[in-house]
Amino acid sequence: MYKHSLKDFDPDILNIIKKEQKRQEEGLEMIPSENFVSPAVLEALGSVLTNKYSEGYVGKRYYGGCEFVDEVETLAIERAKKIFGAEHVNVQPLSGAPANIAVYFALLKPGDIVLGMDLSHGGHLTHGHPVTSMAKIFNFIRYKTDANGKIDLDNLRAMALEHKPKIILVGYSAYSREIEYEKIKNIADEVGAITMADIAHIAGLIAGGVMNNPVPIFDVVTTTTHKTLRGPRGGMIMCKAKLAKAIDKAVFPGLQGGPHENNIAAKAVAFKEALEPEFKEYAKQIVANAKILETEFLKMDYKLCFGGTENHLLLIDISNKGLSGKEAETALDKAGITTNKNMIPDDPRSPMDPSGIRLGTPALTTRGFKENEMLQVAKWIDEAIMNWKDKTKLDDIRAQVLELTKKFPLYPTL
Ligand SMILES: *Cc1c(COP(=O)(O)O)cnc(C)c1O
Repeated sequence: MYKHSLKDFDPDILNIIKKEQKRQEEGLEMIPSENFVSPAVLEALGSVLTNKYSEGYVGKRYYGGCEFVDEVETLAIERAKKIFGAEHVNVQPLSGAPANIAVYFALLKPGDIVLGMDLSHGGHLTHGHPVTSMAKIFNFIRYKTDANGKIDLDNLRAMALEHKPKIILVGYSAYSREIEYEKIKNIADEVGAITMADIAHIAGLIAGGVMNNPVPIFDVVTTTTHKTLRGPRGGMIMCKAKLAKAIDKAVFPGLQGGPHENNIAAKAVAFKEALEPEFKEYAKQIVANAKILETEFLKMDYKLCFGGTENHLLLIDISNKGLSGKEAETALDKAGITTNKNMIPDDPRSPMDPSGIRLGTPALTTRGFKENEMLQVAKWIDEAIMNWKDKTKLDDIRAQVLELTKKFPLYPTL
């Protein structure tokens, strides 16, 4: 029936994909939420599993012909359980945001209180920012980091005692420190709150054994699968057995329809990769590479939010360098280095033109960058920021970036 390939049938789309692949190959990808999946993950994503409807769960589907997607989903769940030590896993959430939304609907009634971190202090939009639909339904109260950039547990406890939240939520998008799950669990127990961790950014670091794992301690843990965990774009929920039914019902039929089984297969492949010994090396190297950036930026008088980093990312307040986060992002883009502008705690500027930039090491680490390359990257970032108006200088850095990336090819050319 079908004879056409992308090349023959739709060269327009193929050419755009080629351009995007070239962009990924030739730049330094430093957005901390991005990564490069393996060819095996891409293969599973592009498989015929995308054709199959399988509403429901393993062994309890609303469609026939689900025997093989059941095998796929079972493998994904078993591997995730093994990585994180989870009692129950739901691999169907389409991404990180729907995973969080499903948890709220599973465990809360409209008007219930969630204690989550302020966006400008490193929290995520889905943790109750007023622009989200969830903030219209549930009552989100925001805690902040203290003057030293740490989560102030005394303040968190005082807020918990005052507001009696139904959920205490930790796990962040721009916070660079370790999280003390036991202590937060103790506070939650004191006020009878459910503990929820959103490990979207750091799941790969937890899987690789270089950061604390909340799964054995907390009631519910959500994650994306496409950030440090290095799988396909998607979400996942892990929880205690006692919450399994409520969580599963909230995902389907509560929120979603048919699961994307090609994506679930790709998650399973990524989980198998995360169980390999090399994954531990990758996770260790991500943190080592971030530490190099920390040391170098501190030497060059950059203000690091939260005082530095213990994970894969740095949030830099660049207001002392005479430009905004947006201007820095644009200059770095021109130099071939992709980062993102970001709010700093209690940022006096606006979200579209904030005081900071956020950058991280997962994607470069996947490419094979180690300490020596990171020293060079730190130098280029500083040069681009200090010469942000100088087009010739930025072009010159871009040319050097291109030379370096050629030594670290990502994928076979299309
Ligand atoms: C990225 C992220 C999400 C959202 O994930 P999407 O896949 O973009 O929906 C949720 N929570 C945190 C903490 C994140 O960093």
